[in-house]
Amino acid sequence: MNYYSLNKQSPIASFKEATILGQAPDKGLYFPEFIPQVDKDLISNIENISNEEIAFRVIKPYVGNEIREDELFRIVSETVNFSIPLVKVNEQISSLELFHGPTLAFKDIGARFMSRCLGQFVREGQAAQSGQTDKVTVLVATSGDTGGAVANGFYDVDGVDVVILYPSGKVSSVQEKQLTTLGKNIHALEVNGTFDDCQQLVKQAFTDAELNQQLFLTSANSINVARWLPQQFYYFFAYKQWKQKDQPPVIAVPSGNFGNICAGILAHMSGLPVKHFIAACNANDVVPNFMQSQSYQPKSAIATISNAMDVGNPSNFVRILELFHQQFPQLKEKFSSLSISDDETKATMKRVFNDFGYILDPHGAVGFLALEQYLTNEPSLQKGMFLETAHPVKFYDVVEDVLQHTIELPDAVQAIMHKPKAATFIDADYDALKEVLKGIS
Ligand SMILES: *Cc1c(COP(=O)(O)O)cnc(C)c1O
Repeated sequence: MNYYSLNKQSPIASFKEATILGQAPDKGLYFPEFIPQVDKDLISNIENISNEEIAFRVIKPYVGNEIREDELFRIVSETVNFSIPLVKVNEQISSLELFHGPTLAFKDIGARFMSRCLGQFVREGQAAQSGQTDKVTVLVATSGDTGGAVANGFYDVDGVDVVILYPSGKVSSVQEKQLTTLGKNIHALEVNGTFDDCQQLVKQAFTDAELNQQLFLTSANSINVARWLPQQFYYFFAYKQWKQKDQPPVIAVPSGNFGNICAGILAHMSGLPVKHFIAACNANDVVPNFMQSQSYQPKSAIATISNAMDVGNPSNFVRILELFHQQFPQLKEKFSSLSISDDETKATMKRVFNDFGYILDPHGAVGFLALEQYLTNEPSLQKGMFLETAHPVKFYDVVEDVLQHTIELPDAVQAIMHKPKAATFIDADYDALKEVLKGIS
């Protein structure tokens, strides 16, 4: 498989090149040259096929021969080695729980796959194009969720150092522990500033010619094809657990940068039965507005209680448009988008807990309500699922406050809460960052 840049000003890239580069040189997102179709029996016989094999068969055409088959099988097996249950909430609605991975968010799947692919390419010496180093340094700024998944995914991967910048005092205590207790090749920098400061420092490092002479820097953000494509896996796992195979599900996806839902649509276009997709947004309503007006107007992000979705200019939406060949009528037939306020989110968390005994995190609550609203407007009784993208404990301050109910820490979280934090404190100053980076190389 080759990948072209959606800006059409860069040469095509192999899977390996696209993974190492992240973004095309013309700043466009990479997109596969064609959409491979899964074998019919993968769908008709899915209940009898293991998750590892499903994942392998889905991803194989995208990777081609750039990773040996036995290696690729090992990589996907490690990527999906935790449970992803479809849990019934009521007669109409089920929850696809994507939070049973090591950092309790769906980003674990993309991050685990990408880190292992990159690790493989580094071992083969392919990343060292510049010749100065046989190591790569992954540099990420995080507002909370991405950093933990990336750190965990790259933990102890040979040849890769990870440097994570997070804003001091602005991530939850669980998130901070996830970033700062791993050690080994994971370096946490606690920045005396905001998330925007962290992002600014990272951008400056990528454009610093002197630094890039010494280090091979790469990013691990969600536009990387190796993070985007494996997110198709769990849509297949969901269908495997879906009882009424003759009545495919409506699927609601809590959306921020739209990478997750875009992977679902890709899976559908490869042959997975899905009735309709709903992009569930919080107050950041650029895409819901676009679906009304057909005019795309990016805004600055608004802070909400579902903060991982506070995105004012979702980077993956261009990929969705490309999947529908820029044809609005086709898009509208398969795809809707709804905006849910913080008040509605809280009311939904309360109601679903009281009526069905199910604890939603704020992101999942946005997905639940958007799905429920869509289903009530449908004439025939449809059924559907929403993606529960994070464990409620990651947002326990909001959840406990809204539900007036304490939530138990899972074992994995209990264990890290007792570990000592190790982070280097720096001012939001580029020279300070550069010092640290040089020390690592
Ligand atoms: C990142 C994230 C989202 C948004 O996913 P996108 O792929 O950016 O649309 C939703 N929920 C949680 C909990 C997240 O961490």
